[in-house]
Amino acid sequence: MPRLVVVSNRVADPRKTAAGGLAVALGEALNATGGLWFGWSGNIVEKTDAAAQAQPQLHVQRAGDVTLATVDLTQEDHDAYYLGYSNGVLWPVFHYRLDLADFDAGYIGGYRRVNRMFAQQVLPLLRPDDLIWVHDYHLIPLAEELRSLGCRQRIGFFLHIPLPPPLIMAAIPAHEWLIRALFAYDLVGLQSQTDLNHFARYVYTEAQAEQAADGRFSAFGRELRVQAFPIGIDVDEFASLTQGREAQETLATMRDQYAKRRLLVGVDRLDYSKGLPQRLRAMRSLLQRYPGNCNSATLIQIASPSRETVGAYNDLRRQLEGLCGSINGNYGELDWMPIRYIHRTVARKRLPGLYRASRVALVTPLRDGMNLVAKEFIAAQDEADPGVLVLSRFAGAAEQLRDALLVNPYDSDGTADAIQHALHMPLEERQTRHQRLLANIREYDVHWWQRRFLESLQQ
Ligand code: ADP
Repeated sequence: MPRLVVVSNRVADPRKTAAGGLAVALGEALNATGGLWFGWSGNIVEKTDAAAQAQPQLHVQRAGDVTLATVDLTQEDHDAYYLGYSNGVLWPVFHYRLDLADFDAGYIGGYRRVNRMFAQQVLPLLRPDDLIWVHDYHLIPLAEELRSLGCRQRIGFFLHIPLPPPLIMAAIPAHEWLIRALFAYDLVGLQSQTDLNHFARYVYTEAQAEQAADGRFSAFGRELRVQAFPIGIDVDEFASLTQGREAQETLATMRDQYAKRRLLVGVDRLDYSKGLPQRLRAMRSLLQRYPGNCNSATLIQIASPSRETVGAYNDLRRQLEGLCGSINGNYGELDWMPIRYIHRTVARKRLPGLYRASRVALVTPLRDGMNLVAKEFIAAQDEADPGVLVLSRFAGAAEQLRDALLVNPYDSDGTADAIQHALHMPLEERQTRHQRLLANIREYDVHWWQRRFLESLQQ
């Protein structure tokens, strides 16, 4: 196996459990080949006249057999490349939110500049037989930049977020440039069949692509392979976290506090793609239409702070605070509140305890590339008495997790009906559904994903 080089916006030390399943899986592949992981250090430095001329400094660090190489960003580059183009244009459009995209601010210059700088910085670290795997929407033009510097190695790209239908994609002024840039890769991986269909329709209608066979597309004078590789979690790692002290403590506390009540859980970054206001409205509809849940059902909604300097995120935060206040004010009792909203991150080691204490998980994004919380919830359940997953049909995970209760998150009454069904589902049905869901996430776990992608890239 050739040496693996991973390039992503952020670099994580794969030895730390806080890094999560993706870092662990990439770390596994990197470890096996003594590989290199390159990306932004997370540091923002002041731009000095000297720094403006020179290339940024490269920080190199060893993590076992893996080399971690990072660069700092200037404030200006960070604002344009990361906050501006990546999270103010690509993230909203790829999640179907044209209304939130800021096309006019000229961020694209910074996006190109940082991609070029990444290419220049990583190029001297490459060996002739390396296999390069680039991750996510921050780095779409990276292969194009590397190729222009003479890089001939195989380069694969995985898009962790959804790829929108052609007419939504076409709203981005530089859409053709972005898709053309993908053709500089040898392999592009997407999360779902739906995303793959969108890609195919785009290249047929917008780029006059030729007929594809085996996921091969010809356009812009180049050929590209595109396949769906749904990402999974490390089921065993998550199951062992569930048995850990912190998770067991959390489970015991929750069971104690909610002994006679039904617990529902939501765990998300505070992001407009996650459908949080819609989820709260579904809870309101549940209480209104099924009053038996009053004084009984409680949703613990953990929403971790995210991208707080992007305007749309602050508006969402205020909207959620208003909705929680109004629902709790209208339905709450002296000793019971329907919504416990916590605007913080929960320690990764405690999460499985929270999942396991909950009868129902609400995973109801308006659009999501995959959604790993859905899979973590399944992995954390007690097989003898498992909880029920209420899952948005618009999450990439819905293509695989057909045994969840699939809902349309825009339909708050319909979602409330599904929650009611979930809360009262008989044990046998819960077990049958859970067995099938668990078998699915075990088969298509994060190791499968990593192996399949790399095998395909090497073909
Ligand atoms: P996204 O990548 O859009 O944030 P995913 O559901 O695919 O959504 O992945 C989110 C990851 O972050 C999961 O591993 C989840 O456990 C973790 N996470 C999300 N929100 C929180 C939170 N509030 N506290 C702790 N961990 C969280």
